[in-house]
Amino acid sequence: MMRITRFIPRVLFGEKRFEDLNEFIDGSYPDRERYSVYIIDSVHQKTGLRDRLRPAAQDLVMEFNASAHEPKTSDVDALRDEIVKRKGAEYPRVVVGIGGGSVMDVAKAVSVMLTNPGSSADYQGWDLVKNKAVPKIAVPSLSGTGAEATRTAVLTGPIKKLGINSDFSIYDAVLLDPELLSTVPVEQEFYTGMDNFIHCVESINGSAMNAMGKPFAIQAKASVESFFLKEKNYAAFMVGGFLGGCSIANSSVGICHALSYGIAFVLGYRHGIANSIVFNQLREFYGQDVLTFRQMMEKQNLKLPSGVTRGVTSEQLAKMVQLTYMLERDLISALGPNFKNILTPEKISRLYEKM
Ligand code: NAD
Ligand code: ZN
Repeated sequence: MMRITRFIPRVLFGEKRFEDLNEFIDGSYPDRERYSVYIIDSVHQKTGLRDRLRPAAQDLVMEFNASAHEPKTSDVDALRDEIVKRKGAEYPRVVVGIGGGSVMDVAKAVSVMLTNPGSSADYQGWDLVKNKAVPKIAVPSLSGTGAEATRTAVLTGPIKKLGINSDFSIYDAVLLDPELLSTVPVEQEFYTGMDNFIHCVESINGSAMNAMGKPFAIQAKASVESFFLKEKNYAAFMVGGFLGGCSIANSSVGICHALSYGIAFVLGYRHGIANSIVFNQLREFYGQDVLTFRQMMEKQNLKLPSGVTRGVTSEQLAKMVQLTYMLERDLISALGPNFKNILTPEKISRLYEKM
């Protein structure tokens, strides 16, 4: 199979570089008469980042409240409809997403849905997007998902939680300012950091990985371990998050993400914590890395919720098994084409019961 490795072509990195956002946009997309769309996490009303934006008169500043819930296809459709209602058929020159994985995914999906008909739910899957998207810039204010570098926009739809995976859903540029991480609550910082750690463990151990992607994953994993076991260096952590994204963009996740989708969709846990709950039970698959994960938790004085799946009905469990199998590509990467012989529905249920 011919596999083309994709990277973000333009990256602006450094402390306080957020101040250069306007110049960065103008330099990349010089058509200043046209409007830009900013999609920013509502939390930045409180952190003060919203006030540091300098939109032009014609620009649209829209909010997504990631604290309420992770992105749904209906959120993306509503934002797209609002833009079309206010601006008609004219496309923006750029869509800028400012926030964690949630907002970065929303902005990604909106850029795709401005040029493609129907609902974003129609594009959950692989390579279903037909038309080129509006250009987009990611400004992460939370590190670990790697959403700033991947070709996925993860969305919860009416029937599934699954990403829009397409060459058109990858950012054209990224602004990395480590200072933006300073307001993130410590628990959130940890769980989103673990998302990066787990991506790396899964991709390094998966057959979808090749020598091209591996160095990124190894470096990203080391950055997370160093951050939570030694010293909190935010610049290195943010770069690690980006590199983790570069790695996962060109490989695959694994058993933990497959199982965590069920926990997220059916039980409503958020991505980072759902992954942590699952990963803690995967020692037979990921060995020493699970022990390192526990060490990091201990060092940061954090405790996972327990009894998470207590009270789950048999219908819910069946749905969770079905959702796990939806990440077929990832399970093939982790366990081979006969993954269902190893990860049987009974095995999945037993793992869930331990959580
Ligand atoms: P998030 O974006 O959902 O944000 C979590 C919380 O942190 C929210 O309350 C948010 O308001 C807050 N927050 C963000 N930045 C902040 C800041 N600077 N200061 C204070 N608070 C801040 O969390 P996340 O873990 O980054 O993203 C999770 C989402 O990313 C999930 O929907 C998951 O499916 C998705 N994801 C996407 C990819 C991808 O490749 N596209 C990969 C992994 C996960
Ligand atoms: Zn993840």
